[in-house]
Amino acid sequence: MDLKQYVTTVENWPKEGISFKDITTIMDNGPAYKYATDQIVAYAKEVGAEIIVGPEARGFIIGCPVAYALEIGFAPVRKPGKLPREVISADYGLEYGKDTLTMHQDAIKPGQKVLICDDLLATGGTVEATVRLIQQLGGEVVGCAFLIELKELNGRAKLGDLSVKTLIQY
Ligand code: 5GP
Repeated sequence: MDLKQYVTTVENWPKEGISFKDITTIMDNGPAYKYATDQIVAYAKEVGAEIIVGPEARGFIIGCPVAYALEIGFAPVRKPGKLPREVISADYGLEYGKDTLTMHQDAIKPGQKVLICDDLLATGGTVEATVRLIQQLGGEVVGCAFLIELKELNGRAKLGDLSVKTLIQY
């Protein structure tokens, strides 16, 4: 299946100059959403994932059905102030200023093999901070899966030797 046909590009959103890739037109199409999920499930099996981690909010949309299919757990990465128990934090740089991501401090067991899932790889800042959180908890990142990769932003460079799977490239 050519998944790219189901992505909607929205020009100048959320601000002037941004060409936003809207994945809701994959999700609202049953066969396309299933196909995308099945591709990531196959990759998750290949890399031996024992738990899925996804950053809010679109990482949940991609990661949760993969966890369900494999009968493994899902651990959320959230903005500060959203998780109710003790958390660890990682900062990452934005174009202007910084942002912070958090995870529950007991979300990953030491040595657990983790697959990170998100909708889109752009500069790699979000996934790189997520990798740091997982490593801080003693987890082993065995792969990173995205629906979409914006190649010219070279997010892969932030991931060193980590295995990366993307289904659609621009
Ligand atoms: P990065 O941290 O790699 O620069 O940006 C990736 C993060 O920003 C992802 O969590 C993703 O959800 C969000 N993101 C950035 N640009 C887009 C876009 O064009 N479309 C979608 N769906 N998400 C985006």
